[in-house]
Amino acid sequence: MHKWFSIALIVVMISAVILSNLVHNRSQKQKMYYKNIIDSSSNIVVVVDKNSIIDVNKTFFKYFNKYNTLEKFKKEHKSISDFFVEKEGYIYKNIDGLNWLEYLIKNPKNNQVKIVYDEKEYYFTIGVSLISVEDKHYSAIFSDITKEKLYQKELEYTTITDPLTKIRNRYYYNEQIKKESANSNRYFYPLSLVIFDIDYFKKINDEFGHDVGDSVLVEYTKLISSHLRNGDIFCRIGGEEFTLILPHTEKSGAYKIAGKLRVLIEKHKKIVPITMSFGVVEYIKGEGLEVTFKRADQALYEAKNGGRNRVVVR
Ligand code: GH3
Ligand code: MG
Ligand code: MG
Repeated sequence: MHKWFSIALIVVMISAVILSNLVHNRSQKQKMYYKNIIDSSSNIVVVVDKNSIIDVNKTFFKYFNKYNTLEKFKKEHKSISDFFVEKEGYIYKNIDGLNWLEYLIKNPKNNQVKIVYDEKEYYFTIGVSLISVEDKHYSAIFSDITKEKLYQKELEYTTITDPLTKIRNRYYYNEQIKKESANSNRYFYPLSLVIFDIDYFKKINDEFGHDVGDSVLVEYTKLISSHLRNGDIFCRIGGEEFTLILPHTEKSGAYKIAGKLRVLIEKHKKIVPITMSFGVVEYIKGEGLEVTFKRADQALYEAKNGGRNRVVVR
């Protein structure tokens, strides 16, 4: 009897060991299974808590390619957020007094990040979710949007830029004068507008050819750009016609600036000597923008009629 009991006990123990191994193997297998899925993602997947990185997938090392294990990465860096660029509209290490992870949990829609690593720039959107309540572990999934971001930037640039001179274009002028006049109305600061135009430009084209005409446009817009203040808005609104939006500037100040530019241009004498005529006005609170533009254009017309190479204020 005693013998049979011993045999039964041994059998039970062996079964328990086999079962436990089986369960262990299955959970190991399951772990591998999920690890493989996460590794096959083209997104960077990072498991983090508030302070450190706990795990990463294979894609992580495609970006952070100086390292091939998390341990090596962790020896040099505490967090992936070391590489977040502090930039408005993007998430960075400590944002609004919060750690980036806390910030993302509170603001899941403000989820864009710019990362610079090894002199390369990347843009991602990040999605976070709690994966372990007791450990406070989160998964953060970084989806690469660099291509879309660069395309969007290029589109924004071409929308507002004159292709020949690379200064801002008429579209930008229209946008900015709307914005600046609204600000001027709201905050009661002065705003002036200058319209200017190359004198007898047609003659330059006729005499030296269109390409020389183009080079003149490039050369003189560069000259003008290099003499403007931060905040002055210089645009090419037509063939050889330009505007200068001068926020925080009264008529008298705008007249001085236009006068300086007029002399600068006249003295420059590069490629082909040119002169320009200027019309200057100050924006009147509440005035329609077409009216402001017309007044400046009228002043320019008077400068042309008055003999060109001059500034007229209205
Ligand atoms: P004004 O002193 O009255 O302004 O005389 P103007 O000859 O400058 O004016 P007009 O409007 O008669 O001629 C403008 C010329 O500008 C005609 C056009 O061929 C030239 N133009 C416009 N856009 C470009 C451009 O992108 N490149 C070149 N090379 N010429 C241009
Ligand atoms: Mg002209
Ligand atoms: Mg013209």
